[in-house]
Amino acid sequence: MKIGFPRALFFFDYFPFWAGFFHCLGIEVVTSPATQRQIMEQGLKKVSDETCLPLKLLAGHIQALKDVDAIFLPRMVSVELDTYNCPKFLGIPESIVSAVPAGIPILTVVLNWRKGQRQVLKDLQIFGIQLEKSKLEIRKAFSEGQAWQKQYQDSMGAGWDFEESMRKIEDASKGLQHAPSVVESTPSIPVTVQTRERLRIALVGHSYLTQESYANRNLLGRLREKTEVELVQHVSQEDVDTNLLGLRKKLFWNHAKQIFGAGNKFVRDREIDGIIYLSCFGCGTDSLVQDMLARKAREQHKPYMVITLDEHSGEAGLVTRLEAFLDMLERRRTHESYVSTYGECLDRDSNTL
Ligand code: SF4
Repeated sequence: MKIGFPRALFFFDYFPFWAGFFHCLGIEVVTSPATQRQIMEQGLKKVSDETCLPLKLLAGHIQALKDVDAIFLPRMVSVELDTYNCPKFLGIPESIVSAVPAGIPILTVVLNWRKGQRQVLKDLQIFGIQLEKSKLEIRKAFSEGQAWQKQYQDSMGAGWDFEESMRKIEDASKGLQHAPSVVESTPSIPVTVQTRERLRIALVGHSYLTQESYANRNLLGRLREKTEVELVQHVSQEDVDTNLLGLRKKLFWNHAKQIFGAGNKFVRDREIDGIIYLSCFGCGTDSLVQDMLARKAREQHKPYMVITLDEHSGEAGLVTRLEAFLDMLERRRTHESYVSTYGECLDRDSNTL
C-alpha cells in the first residue's frame, strides 16, 4: 500500500511520527514534491480566499500526490496536554476535501493528546482496522513513531537543518535504512558561524512558514547568508515554558504558545540583535501573538519587524525590507553609544536616538 502525505502544514512538525508509524507497519509513504508555483496555483483554486496561506498550500500539495492508494490527512486536535492546535487543523479533512483528486480515498484519524496516551493509542487501533493491522502491530508502530519523533525533536538544537533531517527520515520511511539518524545529520547550510561579527537574528513564526522556502521567498536562506539565525525550534521546551510565565491567561493554541515563549526569550536575549516575525494573511493566532510580542520587544527596545506573507508576496518588496532592517541593525550596533548633543534621546519610547 502506498500512502500519500502532503508536504505542507503538519508535515513540518509531525512527519517523523507518521513516517515511523507507517514504516513499522510496512506501508510506503510518498510525499509531494517541494512547493512550486503550480502547486500554489492549484491550491488557490480549491479553498476559499479568506483561508490562511498554509491551508492553501496544503490543498495544492494534496493535488500534487500522484499514483497513491490513499491520501493521509490526520485531524490533529492536540499534541500535548492543556493545549489545542489551531481550529484550522481541527477542520481537516472536511475543509480540504474539495482538493482531493476524484477516486483517491482519504485516510484520517483523530489525534487528541488532551485525552491522554491511552486514548490516542485506542484511536490509532481503530484506524488500524482500515489498514488491516492488528492492535499489537499498531501498538508497536505507535512506539516506533514516538521514537522517530523524539529523535527528530532532539536534533533541533544547534547544527540542525530541517531539509537534511527530512531527507533522512524520508529515506528511512522508504526502507533505505531502519531508523533516521537525524541527530548526526551534517547540515548542508552552515547554520551557525562562530563569529560574533555577524548579526544574530531570531526568525519566529510557524515552522510551515519559516521552513517553506517557496512561500517565504527563501527568507531563511537569505538571512543565513548574511547573519546567524535562531529559530523557534532551537529553543528548549524548558526555556519556552519559563518565558510563558507572567502571562495573565494561558495561551491554549500549541503553536502560539511555542512561538510566544521562544519569541519572548529572544526579546530578552542580549545576544539577539533583532527579531523578524514571519506571519501570514488570514492567521487568527498570529494576529494576537505578533502583537503581544511587539509589546514585549518595545519594552526591551529590541528591533522587531513583522513580515506578512500571502500568495501575492513579491520577492523585491521582501528583499528591500530585509535589507533595510539589517542595515538599521548594523547602524544601531555601530552608533549605539552615540548620544546626540541635543539631548539624551528624542523619543523615550522608541529605539530612535
Ligand atoms: S495557526 Fe494560523 S497559519 Fe496555522 S493553520 Fe491556523 S490559521 Fe493557518
